[in-house]
Amino acid sequence: MPIRQLSKEVSSAIAAGEVIERPASVVKELLENAIDANARTIEVVIEGGGKRLVMVSDDGEGIPANELSLAVGRYSTSKLESVEDLRSIRSLGFRGEALASIGAVSRMEIVTRARGEEVGSRLAVEGGLVAGRTPVGASFGTLVRVRDLFFNVPARKKFLKSDTTELGWIGRLVSRYAMAYPERRISLVAEGRERIRTSGSGDRREALAAVYGLQDVQAMIPLVEPAVGRSGLELSGFVAPPPIHRSNRREITLFVNGRWIQDVGLGSAVTQAYHGLMMVGKHPVAVLYLAVEPDQVDVNVHPTKAEVRFADPQLVFSAVQRAVRASLLGQVPVHPLALGPPEPALGWSSLPTRADRAATPERVIQLPAEDAGRVPILRSVGQVGATYLVAEGPDGVYLIDQHAAHERVLYERLMKQADSRSPESQSLLEAITVEFGPGEMDLLEANLGALSALGFQVEPFGPQSYRVRAVPAVLSGIAPDRALRAVVEDFEEDETPLAEETEARVAARVCKRAAIKAGQILSLEEQRELLRDLERCQAPRTCPHGRPTMVHLSVAALERQFGRRG
Ligand code: ADP
Ligand code: MG
Repeated sequence: MPIRQLSKEVSSAIAAGEVIERPASVVKELLENAIDANARTIEVVIEGGGKRLVMVSDDGEGIPANELSLAVGRYSTSKLESVEDLRSIRSLGFRGEALASIGAVSRMEIVTRARGEEVGSRLAVEGGLVAGRTPVGASFGTLVRVRDLFFNVPARKKFLKSDTTELGWIGRLVSRYAMAYPERRISLVAEGRERIRTSGSGDRREALAAVYGLQDVQAMIPLVEPAVGRSGLELSGFVAPPPIHRSNRREITLFVNGRWIQDVGLGSAVTQAYHGLMMVGKHPVAVLYLAVEPDQVDVNVHPTKAEVRFADPQLVFSAVQRAVRASLLGQVPVHPLALGPPEPALGWSSLPTRADRAATPERVIQLPAEDAGRVPILRSVGQVGATYLVAEGPDGVYLIDQHAAHERVLYERLMKQADSRSPESQSLLEAITVEFGPGEMDLLEANLGALSALGFQVEPFGPQSYRVRAVPAVLSGIAPDRALRAVVEDFEEDETPLAEETEARVAARVCKRAAIKAGQILSLEEQRELLRDLERCQAPRTCPHGRPTMVHLSVAALERQFGRRG
């Protein structure tokens, strides 16, 4: 094909893809515009995971009628004039391309009325084609309706995920703005149901509660500001005590001058501050607000403005780390929280880390993971480091990871009952309530079928919580809220798989939470029982996630090691 310049239509659709990747990007741009327009009330309405409809309305300044056509043009903004201005940006938007980009890949309609104008105006853009502006009756502010995202870019449309997944992204996004702007009333109504609503009272804790639920937020520790030494950096926010944690980094939320950012460095500053307070593989929940002089941070480094560059990254890093650490150490002991078993928050640093585990001596032979062979009858010898069981078999010594082994045992029991369609439930004496964030609610609902197949009895209880009435009998004696929480964490990237796969995945997650932990001392009887149960498993050599449950030191390997044999 000869080289040709792309038509304006094509090139603008391509460029739009950089900014508008999915429905959540549309929501982000429209929310930012509403915030920049000083709106007090912002409403987001979603249908079909945002693919069918994203609507954002605000009571902000509105767009003057004679500027409306300009606003949907490329690189047209009221927020920036010169290159100089780029160095100290105070607004969320500044590139003037969002409305143009959205209009290029959807059917967009804007209704707006600026202060002082007699009537409102309406403008429609479809696949980049702008229709004429018409006067309409409207209240002050702006409403943008975006329908049929990517209707003209099938390649992009194909990459969108299920409605639930897309809604998950949107939910998390709106949550972040709700937390960053507690003085605005922000709401999200999706698929006809209210997911988020903040009061606009200005109280951060209250806004956080709309996202994390009251239980967790009441336990959160306010950040104590460190003596930074140099001015220009203000830090505030909340950090969760170690017993409240997640299995991914996603709940470390950072805002810089009201902008949500992703920053691997600052994320690890937070994680490092929890060092020794939290188990390896667990991640903290934290919401941090940073305020810096606008010229101390470059926000023009990322296509979706999700990353920033600090003039003095080291200063920011150590300020964050020290503030979080000081807050944790200063408040945890006096906070009325149960830091005790089953997960003591202190002293975990002495437990083996993943790196330690990888560094097993070379002559220890690890059983091949794919071999689903049974294990021989084992004689219990004892427990090491409150983490491993030592056992003797017909050919040498076995070291068994108590957590992985117990995961396997629970998993097979749970799956056996699910397969026979007769899950044994155990009713709780008192039903307990578990609160979820908006994105989490959707994940949970998507997996309700699997949960009941496994023997959970849960029911909705208010807009953001569920009641647990019964748990699978094999999990009795385990905190039911923890088991249920396992279902919503780390889940959203999966597309809807077959029903049985969902059950297996949910079961694996639940068992991970429910299994005996490393660090738990087991009585001799408990050790023996775990070995017996493991011997009876179909695939005893790996945990449901595929990690080995045991390593084997054969008699031959021992003899070589001691020089008894060549
Ligand atoms: P940017 O936000 O980078 O300026 P946009 O394409 O998002 O670019 O918007 C273009 C312009 O349209 C903005 O600069 C602003 O003047 C106006 N505008 C967009 N949305 C709103 C809104 N909700 N309220 C008032 N003005 C708006
Ligand atoms: Mg904008």
